[in-house]
Amino acid sequence: GQNVIVIVPGANLLLDFEDLKRASDVICKAKVVVCQLEITPSVSLEALKMARASGVKTLFNPAPALADLDPQFYTCSDIFCCNETEAEILTGIPVGNLEDAEKVGRMLLERGCKLVIVTLGAEGCMMISGDKPIPKHVPAGKVRAVDTTGAGDSFVGALAFYLAYYPKLSMEEMIRKSNRVASVSVEAQGTQSSYPYRKDLPQDLF
Ligand code: ADP
Repeated sequence: GQNVIVIVPGANLLLDFEDLKRASDVICKAKVVVCQLEITPSVSLEALKMARASGVKTLFNPAPALADLDPQFYTCSDIFCCNETEAEILTGIPVGNLEDAEKVGRMLLERGCKLVIVTLGAEGCMMISGDKPIPKHVPAGKVRAVDTTGAGDSFVGALAFYLAYYPKLSMEEMIRKSNRVASVSVEAQGTQSSYPYRKDLPQDLF
C-alpha cells in the first residue's frame, strides 16, 4: 500500500512566465488557484501572486518539497497543505505522531499562511488556522490501502473542488470530505477516485 515515486519533470520545467501571462485572465477570474512545485518554483510563486492580487483563494502544496523554499510561498498561501515528508523537509522536524504534526503546523503557520494542513496518510490530517490556532486532527476512515500513489493530489484536488463549489461549508467539513475522497483513491490502483471514474462515490460528497 505504500508508494515509491520517480519524478521526471521534462516538459513541466518549460512552462514559463510567458505561459503564465497568457493564462492570467483565467487565473484572475478563478475561484481558487492550486500550485505545487512540479513546475519552476518562481513561476508557481508568480501564479500565486497573480491570484492573490485578484482576491482569488490560493491553495499551495509544496510537492516535491524544497528545503530552501522561498518564504513568499507562505505569505501568498491561504491554505498551505503538505504531507509528513514535506513538513519534515521544510521544518527539519520528523513527523511521527500527532504532536509532531501540531508542532510543524504551528511553525509553518508562523511563516505567514492563513491555514496549514498536514496530511498524515491513514491518520487523515491535522489542520491549524491563524484565526483559531488550536490544532485539529481530522481522521480518515479505515480503508484497505492498495495503492497510495497520488493520495495527496486527490486530497488537494478535492479540497479545491469544495472551496470552489461549496464555499459555505466549514473548513473542517471540507477537510473531512477531502479525506474521504483521498481515502477512496487509495483503495484501487491509480488515483481515480472521482466521478466519472468512480460512479459509486457516496452522494453526500457532492
Ligand atoms: P501523500 O500522497 O502526499 O504522501 P498522504 O499519504 O498524507 O499524502 O495522504 C493524503 C490523504 O490521503 C490523507 O490525508 C488521507 O485522507 C488519504 N490517505 C492516504 N493514505 C491512506 C490510508 N492508508 N487510509 C485512508 N486514507 C488514506
